[in-house]
Amino acid sequence: MTRSGPEPRPGSDPINREGLRDRYWERVPLRNLTAREWEALCDGCGKCCLNKLEDADTGEVAFTRVACRLLDGESCRCAQYPIRRQFVPDCVVLTPSTLPKVAYWLPTTCAYRLLHEGKRLYDWHPLISGDSETVHAEGQSVRGWTVPEFEVPEEEWEDHIVEDL
Ligand code: SF4
Ligand code: SF4
Repeated sequence: MTRSGPEPRPGSDPINREGLRDRYWERVPLRNLTAREWEALCDGCGKCCLNKLEDADTGEVAFTRVACRLLDGESCRCAQYPIRRQFVPDCVVLTPSTLPKVAYWLPTTCAYRLLHEGKRLYDWHPLISGDSETVHAEGQSVRGWTVPEFEVPEEEWEDHIVEDL
């Protein structure tokens, strides 16, 4: 996962989406968002915590169902978010500055990628639905179908490629 914010609380939305500017994501440039508005763009899908394979020649990115060792496959959240980089030093911190460089490997449903590409958020996004569970109910998260990376050697990741993320 590539956001920064409060420590996740099991069984609840870790992101406080109350009191934000009305439909700010449709009218305020990303670089002008407050920190809370930026955090609230994350839909909690967990897809960016899946390990990916990138073709060195074409740059094409393929997602696998093999998840980062710190991803909780049910909550779709990082189990050690505040100190995650002690365990996963290459975990990317997503900011308005880093987004243009990494957007190509984010899932196509990711709110940060969608807005970077000038697209609209989906109706199941918690900011629109008002419910952090809709991303899971619509089958848009990784809940229940990942395998931890310590169970799958890297040379076998190719056998776990998933489409349409
Ligand atoms: S350390 Fe792993 S699980 Fe945690 S945010 Fe980074 S990629 Fe996701
Ligand atoms: S893919 Fe995007 S929306 Fe989904 S958890 Fe990662 S940063 Fe959040």
